[in-house]
Amino acid sequence: MTWFVYAEESGGKASTISLEMLTKARGLGGDVAAFAVGTASESWFAALGAHGAATVHHLDPGDALPSAAAAAALGTLVGPGDTVLFGLTPNDRDVAGRFAARTGAAVLSNAIDIRVAGATITVVNEILGGTMLVETAFSGPGPHVIVARPKSFAAEPGAAATPAVRPVTVPDGGRSTSARIVARHSETSQGPSLADAAVIVSGGRGMGSAEKFRLVDDLARLLGAAVGATRAVVDSGWVPYSMQVGQTGKTVKPAVYVACGISGAMQHLVGMKDSATIIAINKDEEAPIFGIADLGIVGDVHQVLPKLIAALQAR
Ligand SMILES: Cc1cc2nc3c(=O)[nH]c(=O)nc-3n(C[C@H](O)[C@H](O)[C@H](O)COP(=O)(O)OP(=O)(O)OC[C@H]3O[C@@H](n4cnc5c(N)ncnc54)[C@H](O)[C@@H]3O)c2cc1C
Repeated sequence: MTWFVYAEESGGKASTISLEMLTKARGLGGDVAAFAVGTASESWFAALGAHGAATVHHLDPGDALPSAAAAAALGTLVGPGDTVLFGLTPNDRDVAGRFAARTGAAVLSNAIDIRVAGATITVVNEILGGTMLVETAFSGPGPHVIVARPKSFAAEPGAAATPAVRPVTVPDGGRSTSARIVARHSETSQGPSLADAAVIVSGGRGMGSAEKFRLVDDLARLLGAAVGATRAVVDSGWVPYSMQVGQTGKTVKPAVYVACGISGAMQHLVGMKDSATIIAINKDEEAPIFGIADLGIVGDVHQVLPKLIAALQAR
């Protein structure tokens, strides 16, 4: 029985979600293999090994759209007793769907935990905005597919660092593998990324406008923090979608999350409620965000934030 972890290369490195899933998989029993998709690199393979992959099956799709080629190639490696882990990210989900359709594998999505008891694999996921947990077990021989929420498992090295690397050739999948990437666009951002930041300052509709949202940027810069936002702000066009935190945005788990002018809708909370310390600034003392905040400031962001910024600048 092998746990295959889908591991897409991201900027020459292992994606954070792939390292999180490998760390989890190495504690579940059975063999652990990474299915690595991207341009070969010793440091990338070593990181996959250090996090639990005894074997790295490497597919370099070149300029082919990776998802169709990856799903087809993965289908040749995975057997009935195996389970494949994907992250809850757009690319991973694309491959997971194609792979499941090819193999008939059952899919359990939105996993925040995985448990194994004997031959039974149970997946835990949250429903109703994280207010209830549901446990679902696979029946049947597999292969199984689990799609895991980012930040559900800590990425911790600790396994043998030199995996066996096995190249995988791009299969001829006919029309499905014929799509080519003709251009790439990388969104530039300053400061730490939302996925890796220890501190995040997020702004909501209460910031008032795109211009006034700059207070969030200023505070984040002074704290060395990443900037997040609610969907209301993204939908208003104040910031790009890549900054959205929540159910249909990113899941984050920083040491400190500062929520400025955010009401605390369930769909936002589900993406940030596991932050270690939550600080909320809202002028409405009844705002739901105060229900999960460790420190709450009832006040106008346009008064509180400039004072906070001035105090930090004076240090
Ligand atoms: C299927 C679905 C998926 C969704 N996915 C997401 C998601 O991924 N992420 C997400 O964030 N939302 C998501 N939403 C939207 C979500 O339901 C809320 O509408 C959104 O989170 C609200 O954003 P907000 O807190 O910025 O705005 P509001 O709810 O309008 O809250 C603004 C807050 O600012 C406060 N405020 C106003 N002025 C000031 C001031 N001057 N000083 C201090 N406080 C002030 C108000 O008291 C209020 O609490 C989703 C919704 C659906 C239906």
